[in-house]
Amino acid sequence: LPDPGVTALTGPDVADRLPRPGAESDKYRRGVVGVVAGSDRFTGAAVLSVGGAVRAGAGLVRFASAAEPVAQVRARWPEAVTTILAPGEGVGEVGRVQAWVLGPGMGTGDDAHAPARSVLDTDVPVLLDADGLTLASRDPGLLRRPAPTLITPHAGELGRLLGVPRAEIEARRLHHVRRAARELGVTVLLKGSTTLVAEEGRPVRVNVTGTPWLATGGTGDVLAGIAGAFLAGGMSCYDAASCAAHLHGLAGRLAAGEPGAGQAPIAALDVALHVPAAVRA
Ligand code: AMP
Ligand code: MG
Repeated sequence: LPDPGVTALTGPDVADRLPRPGAESDKYRRGVVGVVAGSDRFTGAAVLSVGGAVRAGAGLVRFASAAEPVAQVRARWPEAVTTILAPGEGVGEVGRVQAWVLGPGMGTGDDAHAPARSVLDTDVPVLLDADGLTLASRDPGLLRRPAPTLITPHAGELGRLLGVPRAEIEARRLHHVRRAARELGVTVLLKGSTTLVAEEGRPVRVNVTGTPWLATGGTGDVLAGIAGAFLAGGMSCYDAASCAAHLHGLAGRLAAGEPGAGQAPIAALDVALHVPAAVRA
């Protein structure tokens, strides 16, 4: 039965909400997104989340992490401005960041705490994903902050945050995404074959633009970067999450090709590279 508390954005709805540069725009007004991702073990998540932010049209991407992910990001995305953090060092004063993406590949060891704390202590919106969510499930106090917070878990990550098995999340996704938004006081984007976006007091937005070809390593990191760019551009967590899910799904579909004949596997980087085509479409 149709649930009156569930809704979906159409392509034109997304187009209306997308930040577009005006004649007087400059890179700061378009939005500076800070990304804290990657570690010496996981450099790819950094490259992919920065790539999502760059291709979604951030005015500027500032990236702060360990030396190895910084080297990889510099090599792949010359557009990003990078800072090397010493082990256990926080982000400190990073110029004009309007929203942060925190977590993909950053690790969950002792060295991850100071950068995570320093980002969550800022007074701008923060998107928390992947290892950032693991840190928050161990220390729920991390999510209690005055500024808007968007979390982007898959079922396993949401299960850890709520203390319930993954299978239970998968069996009642709508219930648990609503419950998480209410109990954690954050906007929740629950990933899977469909994507649900929940915020207290709003209808749950469902996104079905994706394709099963997106089920491959790293696509979630790209999504985090896209949504981070939209947050930095001034969108609310609710709109940034639902517009990012829509365009990420469409980018995956465009990268994979037409259903039926002609579809082929995609890599996460292909999804980032197809975001402009998705915006055009
Ligand atoms: P992650 O779980 O962080 O690796 O993110 C995976 C991304 O791929 C999310 O955006 C999911 O919504 C998407 N995804 C995974 N499996 C499917 C599927 N079967 N159909 C559509 N999208 C999917
Ligand atoms: Mg992920």
